[in-house]
Amino acid sequence: MDMHQVEQPDGTAAQDMINPGLLKATLNREGFRLTVQRQKILTLFKEKASRHHLSAEEIHQYLGEQGEKISVSTVYRALHVLVKLGLLQELELAEGRKYYELKSPVWQQHHHLVCVQCGDVQEFEDDAMTEVTAQETQNRGFALLNGQFTVYGLCPHCQPQANG
Ligand SMILES: [Zn+2]
Ligand SMILES: [Zn+2]
Repeated sequence: MDMHQVEQPDGTAAQDMINPGLLKATLNREGFRLTVQRQKILTLFKEKASRHHLSAEEIHQYLGEQGEKISVSTVYRALHVLVKLGLLQELELAEGRKYYELKSPVWQQHHHLVCVQCGDVQEFEDDAMTEVTAQETQNRGFALLNGQFTVYGLCPHCQPQANG
């Protein structure tokens, strides 16, 4: 099977939606205004964190460093809209910690390794996991929407020492 055929429900690959013109069209269609602030948040993800996560607080801090006067609650509202539009993905990986990342197409998904102690999140990709997920969903007649794994553990720093 050709996994590259998988598309967003509206027929647009998530990747392409970062294109400013398309994004504007999407926002207009959904009845949202593409505010300068939302655009800046998306740009931030592309520049700082194309394959990484940001918390609302980090986004607020970065915007502040760029001289952008924006409240944390405005950042939260903007993130909510961008998640609703399918441009960003909200991740609640560790308890009480929410992160956001650019939504990747299902055939390009990465997985998360989370330390339950310190909340450190690391990303990894694995073709075998992607293949098993595609195979299993296909065998059971499912349409694959999201195939991300979250693996929990203790990072090297948080593991008790053998002699302690
Ligand atoms: Zn991630
Ligand atoms: Zn840790």
